Amino acid sequence: MTELPDGRLYLAGQWVAGEGAEITSIFPADGSVNQVLKGASAAQTDTAIEAAARAQSDPAWRGMKPHERARLLTRIADGIEANIARISQIQSRDTGKTLRETAALAGSAAGTFRYMAAALETLDDTLTVPRGDYLTMSVHEPLGVVGAITPWNSPIASDAQKVAPALAAGNAVVLKPASWSPLTALELARIIEGAGLPRGLFSVLPGSGREVGNRLVEHPLVRKISFTGGTATGRVIAAQAAAKLMPVSLELGGKSPTIVFADADLDLAVAGILYGIFSSTGQSCIAGSRLFVQRAVHEDFVARLVAATRRLVVGHPFDAQTQVAPLIHQDHREAVAGHVARAVADGAQVLCGGAAPDEAALQKGSYYLPTILSGLPNTAALCRDEVFGPVLAVLPFDDEDDVIAQAEDNAYGLACGIWTRDFPRAYRVARAITTGTVWINTYKQFSISTPFGGEKDAGLGREKGREGIRAYMAQKSLYVDLTGRPHPWARL
Ligand code: NAD
Repeated sequence: MTELPDGRLYLAGQWVAGEGAEITSIFPADGSVNQVLKGASAAQTDTAIEAAARAQSDPAWRGMKPHERARLLTRIADGIEANIARISQIQSRDTGKTLRETAALAGSAAGTFRYMAAALETLDDTLTVPRGDYLTMSVHEPLGVVGAITPWNSPIASDAQKVAPALAAGNAVVLKPASWSPLTALELARIIEGAGLPRGLFSVLPGSGREVGNRLVEHPLVRKISFTGGTATGRVIAAQAAAKLMPVSLELGGKSPTIVFADADLDLAVAGILYGIFSSTGQSCIAGSRLFVQRAVHEDFVARLVAATRRLVVGHPFDAQTQVAPLIHQDHREAVAGHVARAVADGAQVLCGGAAPDEAALQKGSYYLPTILSGLPNTAALCRDEVFGPVLAVLPFDDEDDVIAQAEDNAYGLACGIWTRDFPRAYRVARAITTGTVWINTYKQFSISTPFGGEKDAGLGREKGREGIRAYMAQKSLYVDLTGRPHPWARL
């Protein structure tokens, strides 16, 4: 079995014992303890931030040419790729996700570093059109120290999505992973250290949100927070950032609608909807958790969907057959079950799932069956609130206007799926929905070159794409005199 990180923190280029609150990483498949470690304290967070500021302003880093920084990022990508099997094992133990999925996430993290390296080499500063005898330029500078705060559901991918562009832009980064999944980010630190990044530029500090996360947000030397997590936490961080006049990017929650028109290829739709809600056991910000099916095919489609859901293989994350692995933690399973109980009290019918599995082999893990509920109005709590688990609400709709109105009637705006053979209609609906991403006849596909982010309560700002690096830079205007003569106003 792969050896897990030993639980020390990566603080300014040193591996040290934490001095903050204890963190227990649990293997969700059987509840066994992976690692007990001490998280960082607020004082250790200050030390990391101060070291980061020093390393960031060191001419060795500040003066490094983009193509040289790109080479470092490429070495990190190589390091991740060479360790995919190891990272995948660690992340599956940390989160309970299937090995297939964690291997894909590690591969995508490597791709993120590789893409940001390439993007960095092709980002130009611009000459602007002058209105006098001077040369005008718009150039970009690093911000300084960036605090990256990430959730537990896809650690290596969400860490890379922040660390790669922030380093590409010439910043230093202090990364705080979530307490339920501290080990994956520590493995990333080992790889980044091995790639030869100058010391102090990168730290990984597992720890509590209140102690480490809060300190990162409030510290005067931190000049940007890049946050992925829940909407409630995002609001708190945004308010603190406002007081500091500090930019934040917020990738928050979702309650994404998926829409099946009667003319859709129904096999395509069944597969896309199953994948959209039940892969990652529903622990995905973009989970398609509100399904609208046009009335003419509603009954037939839902019957097919329920039958296909019952065939999904719920099982151990290390079993290659498994499609639905355990939830991250017993506490999270209780929260998911609580959402379902409330929905039932609100009048929902449980079409499948709605409980933990019976199999003896799964009793010690935090498993929950893929669940489909019907009979709720779009205004019910289950259709409004993010569950972050394998729970799908199905609702009927009449026509295009009706489904747009229902889909829009929600606080979130992260993603949307549309299944129809009528492309003009797909395009109309896609443009009408307030959301960051729309998938047409597919769902939950990603490419690093395509910007990602949310609207309304789903967040602020975009990650990924070439412009993703710019989000970690400050724009500066330069005016250079071309006359060699004193300004006439001075009458010299
Ligand atoms: P969370 O908000 O509880 O925690 C996220 C991170 O913030 C953790 O590292 C946590 O320790 C830290 N934190 C908590 N309180 C803090 C504070 N006061 N100051 C600073 N940091 C603090 O979220 P979670 O339960 O870890 O993750 C699940 C949530 O993440 C879901 O809502 C999901 O939709 C969202 N998410 C969004 C995206 C996206 O890209 N939009 C991607 C993945 C997950």
